Amino acid sequence: MPAMASPPGPPPCPFCEIIAGRLESSPVYEDDQVVAFLDINPVTRGHLLVVPRAHAARLSALDPGTGASLFAVAHRIALALYAADLPCEGVNLFLADGEAAGQEVDHVHLHVIPRVTGDGFRIEASGQQPGRPELDATAGQIRIALAADIG
Ligand code: AMP
Ligand code: ZN
Repeated sequence: MPAMASPPGPPPCPFCEIIAGRLESSPVYEDDQVVAFLDINPVTRGHLLVVPRAHAARLSALDPGTGASLFAVAHRIALALYAADLPCEGVNLFLADGEAAGQEVDHVHLHVIPRVTGDGFRIEASGQQPGRPELDATAGQIRIALAADIG
């Protein structure tokens, strides 16, 4: 039989494929807005992703109510991780929005990562030491943007 040609266009979104049941996953939770499944390359055992059903590549495209649901589900799952029979002394919630922030899959997702002391997971960063004037000026710039957003 001749090889099937790939469909034209960009490859399908892997998380939409999981939600549609066309790609395998290890699910832990679903409701009408949000699903959660294990990360295929976990940084610790139990590392999972909370994902909105509706495709949104970036936070700018995410419905705010769905964003609230995303956090509520991540909160609930974080508490479940402490209760589960898994090593879990702490939890990180992590969301990468945009390539510069390290986003690799263009469908918004919130990582929930169980942590134990010495597990080796680190985010490399060194804190800067701006003076108060610079902190205040930066805060002012963000307040202006927020005020424009709220109207
Ligand atoms: P990010 O860098 O925040 O975009 O993270 C994307 C995450 O999605 C990575 O941790 C990947 O391991 C994970 N991932 C990619 N494809 C799949 C998949 N098919 N099933 C589960 N996790 C996936
Ligand atoms: Zn998608």
